[in-house]
Amino acid sequence: MELVYSHDQLLMVNHVRNLLESAYIKSELRNEFLGSGAGDLAPLDTWPELWVAFDDVEKAKAVISNMDNESAFVWHCKGCDEENPAAFDICWQCEKPKI
Ligand SMILES: [Zn+2]
Repeated sequence: MELVYSHDQLLMVNHVRNLLESAYIKSELRNEFLGSGAGDLAPLDTWPELWVAFDDVEKAKAVISNMDNESAFVWHCKGCDEENPAAFDICWQCEKPKI
């Protein structure tokens, strides 16, 4: 297994996981529940992580880099400045509408 993606928002990691799944790449989510009660761990160690099998690493990275190139992939909330996936019409955090 190899780590292909990590983000401090579980929402984003799940989004990428869905993208990989739709490309028939199986991924494993790690650190899903560490975030809240992390204690002494450094913040980066508590980010949710997506791992894929070595055979799928190249393919997964291609999917993820395509995703990064889509400028419409995320939008920033005008209310709380949180990052939201393009598919969301309201902010997941404060529920303000997209525009
Ligand atoms: Zn917001």
